[in-house]
Amino acid sequence: MGFVETEIQKFENPNCAENNVFYQAMEEVIYSIAPLLESDKKYVKYSILERLVVPDRTIKFKVTWLDDNNQIQVNTGYRIQYNNALGPYKGGLRFHPSVNEGVLKFLGFEQILKNALTGLPIGGAKGGSDFDPKGKSDSEIMKFCKSFIIELHKYIGPCIDVPAGDIGVGSREIGYLFGEYKKITSRYEGVFTGKPFFFGGSLMRPEATGYGVIYFTQSMLEMESKDTLEGKICTVSGAGNVAIHAIEKLLQIGALPVSCSDSGGTIYDSRGVDLELLKEMKFEKRESLEKYLQTHPEAKYIPIEEYPEGGHAVWDIPCYAAFPCATQNELTEIDAQNLIQNGCVSVTEGANMPSTPEAIDLLQSHKICFAPAKAANAGGVVVSEFEMSQNASMSRWSFEKVDEKLKSTMEMICKRVALTAKDYGVEGNYVDGANIAGFKKVADAMIAEGI
Ligand code: NDP
Repeated sequence: MGFVETEIQKFENPNCAENNVFYQAMEEVIYSIAPLLESDKKYVKYSILERLVVPDRTIKFKVTWLDDNNQIQVNTGYRIQYNNALGPYKGGLRFHPSVNEGVLKFLGFEQILKNALTGLPIGGAKGGSDFDPKGKSDSEIMKFCKSFIIELHKYIGPCIDVPAGDIGVGSREIGYLFGEYKKITSRYEGVFTGKPFFFGGSLMRPEATGYGVIYFTQSMLEMESKDTLEGKICTVSGAGNVAIHAIEKLLQIGALPVSCSDSGGTIYDSRGVDLELLKEMKFEKRESLEKYLQTHPEAKYIPIEEYPEGGHAVWDIPCYAAFPCATQNELTEIDAQNLIQNGCVSVTEGANMPSTPEAIDLLQSHKICFAPAKAANAGGVVVSEFEMSQNASMSRWSFEKVDEKLKSTMEMICKRVALTAKDYGVEGNYVDGANIAGFKKVADAMIAEGI
């Protein structure tokens, strides 16, 4: 058995299916960092992997709340504080019925390396609940958020752990969470990021992840001597915060984003997605994408169940660049095959781990530029850290200043990843470059801090 297999076997528990996505994320990292561990024995000597894969602590709690029919509802809340070698724990909260400990472990583990790659002083964490915000009234969302934070507030703070949003948690939910935190603790402090601007949020936080994904792609295409995105057809999945702002930036730079999707199906609009309509449908009315056809009958709506198993309509649309921005494992080997056949040149992950390992292998073996989430979607956490800095210094930065700093940080991350890959003999492999660069930064801090 080789070195990598031995390392992987140490951590796997085949009896726990809930942890599948976590093992998927962990295996990718172990394969990537094998050259580093073999060339520099100190990481093995200090048992860095063993210490990194186990969270510092997992907080699990009951959340009871009253729905609009005065029925008591019960959900489970979590916060996984993974690693704080580089700074306070930092990572989003996800409210979605698919949330369990395994999903949050995968997201938290990825977050450690992502945050390390930014070069900013932040550790890694993730949290959330199996609460489903879909179809809930505003008052139910507020009651849930308030019950959630009554428990979680004991474990967070500006120098301890600073949660943000993720799937199902936007500025409305962060507002309710912060409002209750303030009441319980009597403290007005930067304990959440992603707050609405008028009470402490940073300008550009909502746009940051989506814009950052495009900045990273522009930088990667330049480094790989490929054509720019200008005038090119692009496909985007998702219709949430990340997807909509990626579409917005693509339109701003003269590209043609032709798709978006939600959990019901895909919109293909060959003339370009109507951004204003999409924002209204998803941010204001929270409607299904099917309604897009009411004002754009020339577009196509492909319901999810109409597509063959294992494949997704978005990735069957010919494009120059693809941007999976919905959820984990949404781009499979079949999808990768379709993208390759249709002449796609670049794939950038906006969502966390949206591509399966088989899809990544196939794309890389066909020399498609592939940007992994932990590098490409770091824009959100970068601007979250800018929000923490603004809160701590009681200052407000302009939109232009945040945007400029975000762009230069994404370019820096891209260069760091590309150069690390080159240094370790895997030039052009942004997955390995990101994993090695992120791991090394956290590992060196862990060694310096002692056990
Ligand atoms: P949102 O909740 O705003 O949007 C998620 C989108 O994905 C929605 O359109 C949703 O559809 C769709 N979706 C969710 N689950 C599925 C599914 N199983 N199948 C198909 N579509 C699905 O989330 P975000 O945009 O914030 O997050 C998207 C991804 O980006 C996640 O992986 C998140 O972890 C990652 N990310 C987000 C960051 C941020 O700043 N927000 C930062 C870094 C990463 P529907 O509306 O029907 O539910």
